[in-house]
Amino acid sequence: MEKILVSACLMGRRVRYDGGAKTSSAAVLAGWREEGRLVPFCPEVEGGLPIPRPAAEIERGAGGAAVLEGTARVLAADGTDVTREFLAGARLALEAARAAGARLAVLKEGSPSCGALAVYDGAFQGRRVPGQGVTTALLERHGIRVFSEDQLAEAAGYLRTLET
Ligand code: SF4
Repeated sequence: MEKILVSACLMGRRVRYDGGAKTSSAAVLAGWREEGRLVPFCPEVEGGLPIPRPAAEIERGAGGAAVLEGTARVLAADGTDVTREFLAGARLALEAARAAGARLAVLKEGSPSCGALAVYDGAFQGRRVPGQGVTTALLERHGIRVFSEDQLAEAAGYLRTLET
């Protein structure tokens, strides 16, 4: 059975920067959980950041690939450079996915770690720009397809292609 890496906050774990969760009530996720497919993971906490923690954004909204390449940093709202923790969390997420044999992931949209299609622009003004988070960029670089919680139909379709 195909396993699916999933953002821990979507599964109700209180791991977000503000100490909360972003619990998804989607039936698709609930079904996958019942089937034992889901591997919940929080890259930022596993990378060494505390709960709660200051909000962080990729500078200039450059996207996760730029962070992996060393041309952009991840900065907390108080100016602290948290690039190292974000990179560590991304690597551990990749390890977790590989250990489980997961070839797809469903991650929380907009996060500087987990964003699939959008991240914030680095100005802490609540503006989103197209781009991926650091973990998403690393997973996709290694062949693991990442979908956001808004793309569950696409994720389910991809899962079917893997299982047929
Ligand atoms: Fe959720 Fe990902 Fe942020 Fe962790 S890093 S709180 S899993 S969006």
